Amino acid sequence: MKILDYAKPQDLEEALSFLSKAPEATKILAGGTDLIIQLRSRETEAEYILDLGGLEELKQIRLEGENIILGSMTTFTQVEEDPIIRKHVPVLAAAAGSVGSPQIRNRGTVGGNIANAAVAADSVPALMALDAKVKLVSTAGERVVELVEVPVGLNKTSIRRDEILTEIIIPVPKENTLGAFIKIGRRKAMAIARLNLALQVTFEADRIASARLALGAVGTTAYRVPEVEELLAGQVLSAELVDKACKTVNEVVANKLGSRPTAPYKKTIAAAALRRAFARLNAAKEGGAGR
Ligand SMILES: Cc1cc2nc3c(=O)[nH]c(=O)nc-3n(C[C@H](O)[C@H](O)[C@H](O)COP(=O)(O)OP(=O)(O)OC[C@H]3O[C@@H](n4cnc5c(N)ncnc54)[C@H](O)[C@@H]3O)c2cc1C
Repeated sequence: MKILDYAKPQDLEEALSFLSKAPEATKILAGGTDLIIQLRSRETEAEYILDLGGLEELKQIRLEGENIILGSMTTFTQVEEDPIIRKHVPVLAAAAGSVGSPQIRNRGTVGGNIANAAVAADSVPALMALDAKVKLVSTAGERVVELVEVPVGLNKTSIRRDEILTEIIIPVPKENTLGAFIKIGRRKAMAIARLNLALQVTFEADRIASARLALGAVGTTAYRVPEVEELLAGQVLSAELVDKACKTVNEVVANKLGSRPTAPYKKTIAAAALRRAFARLNAAKEGGAGR
């Protein structure tokens, strides 16, 4: 298929109008770290390319009331270094910092990471554990959906072809919330995750008021683990509780992967990653870190 037209608009209205002309034949280009490879290998095809690179409005990170608004075109480097992200949601800064190489982090965007829906996308479990929502805009209007509803299968999302993901909306975590992001990769540098895990825990005095756990690369999409979240809520964090949580995550992953050959390995590393996340939380708790 030949590319017939390429547009790099300077505002969202213009971008939506270009996209609305032939949504099924158009591909949205963000940083291009996934798309260019897919176009070259003919894994995907397009007649029209809509480059979002000119949309400065999608490259901002700001606090708005009780939410952090992350533009979809913010790069991993921007996210990793941003003071708002580091202060309020360090789990996301850690996920962004774990991506690929400096070159990939400088080009790859969070919006592209979500929309590409690779099972090992590093920002996705972190954003799921943060209860993030996404804003999807088309010429027909806009909708805000929970991020957990976006990935629906391997490289498949619920984003319509006429929609642009414009913003990721992250509620500012309560005081006394601690988080950890754990990635288990193949090699140290440039590693696509074999498993990634994000844990967010809010404490009230000595008890866990609420917990959020999300896993990636252990199923066809990233997902939350309510079985562990419910087990943790209302409890005092103890070695026994950590053991129970690790046993539960092991069972959840085993059920999810069924008889796949990777199941025995993945359920073991999921439990080990969760144990490591709790160790990080404990260290941060003792060190007096908040949020
Ligand atoms: C060498 C290498 C190493 C990598 N390492 C990692 C890693 O460690 N962890 C990790 O998570 N990823 C990794 N990646 C994958 C990649 O960098 C990410 O998925 C990246 O976040 C994609 O963002 P992008 O801006 O480059 O998107 P693009 O490639 O431009 O687009 C990706 C897809 O999303 C769609 N899209 C993009 N933006 C929008 C939007 N705003 N609205 C609607 N649709 C949109 C595009 O149409 C396309 O289908 C790696 C890639 C490479 C090449």
